[in-house]
Amino acid sequence: MSDKIVILAETKDNQLRNVTFEAIGAAKQVKPDGETVGIVCGSGDMENQAQEMIYYGADRVITVSNEKLENYTSEGYTQAIMEIIEEESPSGIVMGHTAIGKDLTPKIASKLGAGLVSDVTEIRLENEQLSFTRPIYSGKAFERKTITSDILFFTIRPNNIPMLERDESRTGDIQPKDIEISDLRTIIKEVIRKTSEGVDMSEASVVVAGGRGVKSEEGFEPLYELAEVLGGAVGASRGACDAGYCDYSLQIGQTGKVITPDLYIACGISGAIQHLAGMSNSKVIVAINKDADSNIFNIADYGIVGDIFEVIPLLIEEIKKIRQ
Ligand code: FAD
Repeated sequence: MSDKIVILAETKDNQLRNVTFEAIGAAKQVKPDGETVGIVCGSGDMENQAQEMIYYGADRVITVSNEKLENYTSEGYTQAIMEIIEEESPSGIVMGHTAIGKDLTPKIASKLGAGLVSDVTEIRLENEQLSFTRPIYSGKAFERKTITSDILFFTIRPNNIPMLERDESRTGDIQPKDIEISDLRTIIKEVIRKTSEGVDMSEASVVVAGGRGVKSEEGFEPLYELAEVLGGAVGASRGACDAGYCDYSLQIGQTGKVITPDLYIACGISGAIQHLAGMSNSKVIVAINKDADSNIFNIADYGIVGDIFEVIPLLIEEIKKIRQ
């Protein structure tokens, strides 16, 4: 078995998602001296994405451009990726634990008969034994797993595994590859965007989330302003989504997105267990709530007891002063 690790890249709006660079960092942790090979699927010219992967540490990148891969389908991507994996015979495969990663990797793992550890937040090497840490029970506990099959196959949770520094002096081969994609049984006719542009919540290092305490759609405006000055994204509790203050695509929690930003600011959120399931592993949690007994303060690193509509403008003002 080679010392080669394959990275399954993911793009959004023709840009690589950050988690792809973190996956390269993960591959380097697992096999520091092994070869790291990126696979980028899509349509059109993918040289830029391949080059970026090399700047972030990939030794070689294979690009597959085919109009049938313009939009992600598990069938099309599985065909392309399986053909490359069979040729390359890697000893490991890494991808982000994103919506696409969750859909694609079990399919590939089952075709390869490989063990798959998903949602990894930490990689450990002790006594020459690699183990992978992942949250369980909605983040209330962690488990450590090892992989016994020949191929190390794992997905990583965004924002947890450090990426290498971008270095434009890194060089590597870019290999365009033609792969015939047989007729797909499902095709994407149209993609209807629900989220706006800007920072993607699942990869943002700062998330400002609003709850029912925001009281209206307009009430979210100061949260967007705070997110903007911090270079972050806006999220929400289900309470805020159910009340119609924002779109369900912003929902964080057990039945929403699971995120681990460096900084999470909960604004007018009570801290129900189902909400905590989506954000409790954030590195620093700040809560703003006018009820000093609110459960959110039990999990917060910093708590501000006050009205969000008074506190948030003050925070924005102070942050702007520091940034000047
Ligand atoms: P509330 O509980 O109503 O809290 C509002 C908070 O705002 C209060 O603490 C109040 O003190 C504070 N507040 C009010 N006004 C102000 C102000 N001006 N300034 C400061 N603070 C103020 N919830 C999720 O979030 N995500 C999920 O994925 C999710 N999944 C669920 C799945 C199931 C099966 C079930 C049963 C529930 C789920 N829920 C989920 C719902 C969850 O139980 C809570 O109902 C929800 O999280 C409450 O949202 P909230 O904190 O915004 O609202």
